[in-house]
Amino acid sequence: MRRILILSTTTGYQLRSFGDAAVKAGIDLMFATDRCHQLDDPWRDSAIAVRFHEEASSLAAVVAAATERRIDGVIAVGDRPVVLAAKIAQELYVSGNPVTAAAASVNKLVSRRRLANADLPVPWFFEASARTRLSLDSRVRYPCIVKPLGLSGSRGVMRANSPAELDEATERLRALLSRVDVRAIRTGLDDIVLVEGFIEGREFAIEGVLTNGALQAFAIFDKPDPLDGPFFEETIYVTPSDLKEEMQWAVIDQVQRAVDALGLTTGAVHAECRVGPAGISVLEVAARPIGGLCSKVLRFTSGSAIDVSLEEVLLRHAAGEDVSQFDREGSASGVMMIPIPKRGLLKRVGGIDEAAAVDGVEEVKITAKPDQLLEPLPEAGSYLGFIFARGESSKAVVSILKRAHSRLHFDIAAPIPVG
Ligand code: ADP
Repeated sequence: MRRILILSTTTGYQLRSFGDAAVKAGIDLMFATDRCHQLDDPWRDSAIAVRFHEEASSLAAVVAAATERRIDGVIAVGDRPVVLAAKIAQELYVSGNPVTAAAASVNKLVSRRRLANADLPVPWFFEASARTRLSLDSRVRYPCIVKPLGLSGSRGVMRANSPAELDEATERLRALLSRVDVRAIRTGLDDIVLVEGFIEGREFAIEGVLTNGALQAFAIFDKPDPLDGPFFEETIYVTPSDLKEEMQWAVIDQVQRAVDALGLTTGAVHAECRVGPAGISVLEVAARPIGGLCSKVLRFTSGSAIDVSLEEVLLRHAAGEDVSQFDREGSASGVMMIPIPKRGLLKRVGGIDEAAAVDGVEEVKITAKPDQLLEPLPEAGSYLGFIFARGESSKAVVSILKRAHSRLHFDIAAPIPVG
């Protein structure tokens, strides 16, 4: 039986979905997870314990395990394992991204440089220490964006329209970067920020897979809610895109160029781009699938096979199968990442049944736990939950998602003051 190694930080939904997909595809799974604080094996999945920030020992642990149980392919779930996945693939002679390409994809500064060197549209940018007064730097123009190099999920990404706003944003970013929970991520990029021009335009996400460097795009997602800042909370993803067909091909083409510029060759990619006066600007290409629960928004068909999950397609691909015959299903599909209304302790979410009863809604999933501290962006590090819907058109799906969301109400208590 073919065996695929899944590298991940979480043990959540996406791993279960890989588990289900593996059974369907006749593939054996092996897990390597970074569970910082757990010493025993509470999940009883005999996962190899790794530390994403200790690559040499993690690599050695996986290679040792692979001598007992052969590994035929590697999948990184989430940004953090992307580089380790590439190193493992190289060491085990299975297909994977070149290590330098994987490293470039997870570093916003290196990514920008590579895209700029390939003559792709990139705003002006420079790196700086979060401890300097950025507004005094003569390279800054407004509006601009300031963002940490090592975080993800729009955490710490802020727009500033003036020197005063940039000072305020930098101060906020400094506070975020000095937090214990953020330090614990240990990206090695702790105090470095990227300052760059704000790119006007509508935003899109592209999900796909690379085979020998060639991109097979599964979907272009519209993000219908404007993302103009000052913070960039993702809400709705819906596909198919309402971009004209030739524009969709142009977007895919531009993502392919960005993939080439980074040097990525293999496996899942999730890219973000903006389409506006500057043309099609690729913001980033991540060498991993769309995050966690959101992957449920995609379903595939192939011949007589229906309801195939993204995880199944990716597993088959990692095991060396040709997945070019898998197409996204016909209906429009969307997800709302439920916005966090304010900072505080989540007491209760009401109206879940009413939201789920909206015609077209497939699932309302609250992932935040009672008494969990909810934080909006730019500090936020987790989600409140997700609403999934399908319908005849993307427009219909968006209104279903909004209707369902309007039926939810959140009881959030004031956070306990620190100190
Ligand atoms: P992350 O990896 O944390 O998601 P990104 O660099 O992708 O960070 O930025 C997150 C979001 O912030 C983007 O999806 C986009 O909406 C917004 N953003 C980031 N950089 C820019 C920019 N230069 N111009 C306009 N919007 C931006």
